[in-house]
Amino acid sequence: MNNSARAIEVRDITKIYRTGAVEVPALRGVSFAIEHGEYVAIMGPSGSGKSTLMNLIGCLDRVTSGSYLLDGVDVSSLDDDALAEIRLKKLGFVFQGFNLLARTDAIRNVALPLFYAGVPSRERNTAALERLAEVGLADRATHKPTELSGGQQQRVAIARALVNNPAVLLADEPTGNLDTQTSDDIMRLFGELNAGGRTIIMVTHNEEVAAHARRVIRLRDGLIVADDRSPSALPVS
Ligand code: ADP
Repeated sequence: MNNSARAIEVRDITKIYRTGAVEVPALRGVSFAIEHGEYVAIMGPSGSGKSTLMNLIGCLDRVTSGSYLLDGVDVSSLDDDALAEIRLKKLGFVFQGFNLLARTDAIRNVALPLFYAGVPSRERNTAALERLAEVGLADRATHKPTELSGGQQQRVAIARALVNNPAVLLADEPTGNLDTQTSDDIMRLFGELNAGGRTIIMVTHNEEVAAHARRVIRLRDGLIVADDRSPSALPVS
């Protein structure tokens, strides 16, 4: 993590999808900064540009114009290989559907990003066990996803997202597949991770889930229409 830089800084970004002769402006000039230690929810109605923004922040796509600095690195001009490397180093992803390897135990699921990063096996396993402990699942390391509840599977996915010590944890509807009780558990875990200093950005359409974040950015028609911090929302330093 680059302490002298902001976690995220986007300046006047646009994203225009071109399909044949038709141009769809999905983001029409969006600027904001997120400091290290913030916990931000991105909300907005369907079609407002949430997924587009997450894909850009997640370095899965490129802006049409404007600039994007991730942890101090200008990623707007990087090629595909460099973007993949940045994703591995600086980002952790949590998805609605957990996206775990079904036949692989928890520890190896968590270690997967380190495998791709070329980290030796012993180091991978140590880091994976530490992260499983951080999400309260140290005693489930050798269980396969099918032997775990939905909430436990999402915890494994969160441990996987944290295993490379990312500058930013990106979550896309992280509780979308969970019942209310389990959803509350996962939100409590996010709160704890944030209190421990983790920077979290999550997309959700659920106001109750978003209320756990300490800042809510609202999109409509490709523009930010609100950006509110809750009164106690000082970034953890
Ligand atoms: P949200 O996630 O808030 O539902 P999206 O970012 O998916 O919004 O979409 C924003 C706008 O961009 C919508 O009008 C959508 O139809 C359009 N869009 C999204 N992805 C593509 C694509 N790959 N090609 C063309 N248009 C797209």
